[in-house]
Amino acid sequence: MDAYAAASHLIDYHRRRSGLAVWSHTEVKECVKQEEQYKVVAVNGCRIQCKYVVIAAGFEAGAFLPEKVMDLTSTYAIISQPVDEQFLWHKHSLIWETKEPYLYIRTHGNRIIVGGEDENFKNPVLRDKLLRKKVAILEKKIHKLFPEIPFVTDFAWCGTFSTTKDGLPYIGNWPGDKNMLYALGYGGNGITFSMIAAQIIRNKIKGISDNREKIFGFERR
Ligand SMILES: Cc1cc2nc3c(=O)[nH]c(=O)nc-3n(C[C@H](O)[C@H](O)[C@H](O)COP(=O)(O)OP(=O)(O)OC[C@H]3O[C@@H](n4cnc5c(N)ncnc54)[C@H](O)[C@@H]3O)c2cc1C
Repeated sequence: MDAYAAASHLIDYHRRRSGLAVWSHTEVKECVKQEEQYKVVAVNGCRIQCKYVVIAAGFEAGAFLPEKVMDLTSTYAIISQPVDEQFLWHKHSLIWETKEPYLYIRTHGNRIIVGGEDENFKNPVLRDKLLRKKVAILEKKIHKLFPEIPFVTDFAWCGTFSTTKDGLPYIGNWPGDKNMLYALGYGGNGITFSMIAAQIIRNKIKGISDNREKIFGFERR
């Protein structure tokens, strides 16, 4: 699915149907606790008073955390020009090489995406400088695994990735601050973990017990 379109439509649906207020392109610089509520301050000086805050700022969330819980790394991916269906495999399944460095191969229509080649740093200038070299390595790997596929790279990209010590995300409140909630550290599994985060945080705010908090909470850090 088109994740960007899905997210935009979901937000717009609730803006129209549930009175959700949306301020896009508005950077939050701090969240200040005031007795039973929080004051959220944006860089343009606007403020929001609220009972709960959910921090879902991806790899930039470090600024809102009392201590470091995630490491930031860089990851690379390439996508091929469309190939003939005869070259693709059973049900276009996701292929994942679990050894280190890992490698994943999946399809998008009849294009093939190959990704991995992570580096242990987040510096975006250094990360982008390595792109050409990483494209060559990823191409070599797919050609070695599937020599019969006429793989020709159409686009290549890279991005920042957050990892935690056990590979699981952090979802829930910071100990002692029950209304400041976090949904972070999804690593390479943002699609699955963000859904779990949405459910746990909704349950927490509604006072419904959810035993997954023990698995994803900050107590294990
Ligand atoms: C190359 C690459 C390939 C990937 N492939 C997959 C995959 O195949 N499957 C999968 O499940 N996951 C994949 N991931 C991981 C997935 O993209 C992430 O886990 C997911 O996007 C994290 O979502 P998020 O909402 O936590 O953070 P983000 O998507 O980073 O969103 C955070 C948002 O917070 C905003 N923000 C940050 N700071 C502030 C602030 N101070 N004030 C206001 N807003 C702020 C940012 O602008 C951003 O919009 C991949 C990641 C990369 C880089």
